[in-house]
Amino acid sequence: MKSMTRTDIRENLNPFAIAQAQLDEAAAELRLDPDMHAFLREPMREFHFTIPVRMDDGSTRVFRGFRVQYNDARGPAKGGIRFHPDETIDTVRALAAWMTWKTAVADIPLGGAKGGVICNPRTLSRNELERLSRGYMRAVARIVGVSQDVPAPDVNTNPQIMAWMIDEYETLMGFREPGVITGKPVPLGGSAGRTPATAMGGIYAIREAANMLDMNLEGATCAVQGFGNVGSYAVKLAAEILGMTVIAVSDEFGGIEKRSGIDYHELSQHQRRTGGIAGFPGSHPINNDDLLTLDVDVLIPAAIENQITSANAAQIRAKIVAEMANGPTTPEADTIMGENGIFIIPDFLCNAGGVIVSYFEMVQNSYQFYWSEYHVNEELDRKMTAAFDAVYKMYSQRGVSMRVAAYLVAVQRVAEAVRLRGWV
Ligand code: NAD
Repeated sequence: MKSMTRTDIRENLNPFAIAQAQLDEAAAELRLDPDMHAFLREPMREFHFTIPVRMDDGSTRVFRGFRVQYNDARGPAKGGIRFHPDETIDTVRALAAWMTWKTAVADIPLGGAKGGVICNPRTLSRNELERLSRGYMRAVARIVGVSQDVPAPDVNTNPQIMAWMIDEYETLMGFREPGVITGKPVPLGGSAGRTPATAMGGIYAIREAANMLDMNLEGATCAVQGFGNVGSYAVKLAAEILGMTVIAVSDEFGGIEKRSGIDYHELSQHQRRTGGIAGFPGSHPINNDDLLTLDVDVLIPAAIENQITSANAAQIRAKIVAEMANGPTTPEADTIMGENGIFIIPDFLCNAGGVIVSYFEMVQNSYQFYWSEYHVNEELDRKMTAAFDAVYKMYSQRGVSMRVAAYLVAVQRVAEAVRLRGWV
């Protein structure tokens, strides 16, 4: 198949323009009050700052950082921190907006935020990464807090980075406050089950979707784009919990296909040994675009935004697209896949498991009593199933897409809190 190039894509790929267009469609469907709509279209607060970092060679590099608190009507703002060379303020705004809708659709008492730093962590030493992480926290220390705004990991950030950040915060403040960051390592107050939580929640959503579609997942085929935190656990849990056969996986350098099935443990070992997924025994290489258009039952985008666009949407053959990444599908691609009868589990529903278990982590931190992983997953299942049911009910009643249905549920909840507070 001809591989698409970025120049084939004619639509607006600005993630914030996409987030606003999605809200506009939901607002029209809801006949949302125009003043409320205007308020919900923009972030409530955003912070732009520089982070000077002493490099190992003695020079100082200045990084640009952002924190956007999109909406905190339903509770303290909540959202991850991304380290990425292509980070932009509009990406952070979009991700903060989606966090607002995500916490609302999951019905947890939090708002939406997001943070980012323009940097390529792969080019930084461990010491430089630590100084950058501590510098980020120094820049935001006065605007985050358990009652204000609670960060977490996202692309290219991990529990170790959260550990440096919480240590910096607690050192500055002079007291222990584990709930100020989630996704921490367990010995510092992290929750059991937080690392796999995003993928676990997505797996529960796929199970619910298959039930509604009367589809048997045992032995069904699956392709996963991305093999980071979310993608790797998606590969593991798709097989372990749903009994699916994962036949293709990719990362930013390319993909692999193995029709007899890709074992998570073997692929992880291979990745640790060789530094990547390429060359996995028994597989053949495929590129990322071909992975997306494979003839599989379930496609799981778990990498970054704008992967399914007007240039490749018509070729997607999966029955279910489970968006574990944020913003993998553009609005035009959404329309095309909808017309082709593909069932999409929209991102802020499908990947809500991460923030749900982050919320459980905050709860556990607040009363200093920690749950078993079994209990975490039981509560996560309950929350994810309730969120899926609410969206599916809206989808069936209104005859809209699952994405619009998710927006209708979420926007109504946020708008109600805004109204009760008397802001609009
Ligand atoms: P990560 O940094 O751990 O992994 C990202 C993966 O995507 C890596 O395997 C990378 O190689 C791959 N990738 C990057 N660009 C790619 C490209 N162009 N094509 C194919 N693969 C590419 O990040 P993560 O935490 O797994 O996050 C993945 C997605 O899930 C993001 O959209 C993130 O916002 C979303 N998400 C993450 C969480 C969480 O708890 N970590 C929660 C909700 C949503």
